[in-house]
Amino acid sequence: MKFTPFHATLSLVALLASSMSFAQTARSASHGTTAGQLKVYFVDVEGGQSTLFVTPEGHSLLVDTGWPDHEYRDANRIVDVAKQAGLSRIDYVLLTHYHDDHVGGVPQLVARIPVGTFIDHGPNRELDHGVTEHGYAEYQKVLATGKSQRILAHPGDLLPIQGMTARVISADGSLIANALPGAGESNPYCKVSEVRPADQTENARSLGIEITFGKLKILDLGDLTWDKEMQLMCPSNKLGRVDILIVSHHGWYQSSSLALVDAIHARVSIMDNGAKKGGSIPTLETLSKAPGLETQWQLHSSDEGGSAHNTAERYIANIQGPDAGHFLELIAAKNGSFEVSNSRTNFTQKYPAKH
Ligand SMILES: [Zn+2]
Repeated sequence: MKFTPFHATLSLVALLASSMSFAQTARSASHGTTAGQLKVYFVDVEGGQSTLFVTPEGHSLLVDTGWPDHEYRDANRIVDVAKQAGLSRIDYVLLTHYHDDHVGGVPQLVARIPVGTFIDHGPNRELDHGVTEHGYAEYQKVLATGKSQRILAHPGDLLPIQGMTARVISADGSLIANALPGAGESNPYCKVSEVRPADQTENARSLGIEITFGKLKILDLGDLTWDKEMQLMCPSNKLGRVDILIVSHHGWYQSSSLALVDAIHARVSIMDNGAKKGGSIPTLETLSKAPGLETQWQLHSSDEGGSAHNTAERYIANIQGPDAGHFLELIAAKNGSFEVSNSRTNFTQKYPAKH
């Protein structure tokens, strides 16, 4: 092979790529972690959602982008944890639905960090002539730049993210038709769950996923509402058990039926609530009594919850006072063991593998 300037460029690219991956390894090591672990960052976007999954090989999935406005507050917080995880781009950004606390941050995010592919449930169906239509239109403008790919997700799909399995559970109001492997037992919590009318908003259309990493399972259903939970979980439990529940809808009482929360038998719940958004007393109570639940973690102390219903302060990233944007970090191994850390205090709780 003749060595041409083109080949020289290729070699330079290869050299840069290998030095970048060395830098990434060095950075991970400096944070005291070992190879082979999944990291999940629960970014504080003040009662919206933004959750970043990073595989051991550096593949990444961000679920939702927080709010619009606030001068890059949410985009900057996302980019800060992305950098901490050694990322210079985000491979996939999944939008659960088009409410402004989920899709609103898209334009500011892409201005701060490149996004490979967006994943969504299809067109916005909440025609409110207001924030939801605006948020969807702004997202369409970002797609129209052609800088990112786009995937339309359906229940049962496996998303093409390497290094972990991300299975679509709900999308655009539809749910998986059959139980997941190993699940499908009759659900005793259906008969003690209140029946509620169908929600007509984008919440009920949330694109929900289950992440599997080795033996570990994490459930994130976005803002999926109570009526959809009942459809998913009754009469048989289509999900089986999970280890970590990302509490639906920021812990607002419109989600978190017993049919879901009690049946999945999660070890840990993580709630992406704000001080004044989500964190409803009925949800906090449901979680505090959920079978098998070892710890309730929260991004904020809930004003509504007060001292009687909030979890212990060491499990809360942001306590009352000026907004500090602290996050929670989950680090998991394939054997099912994991730990959760609070960036406000550096307190870490370890959860040994059970299986
Ligand atoms: Zn929301």
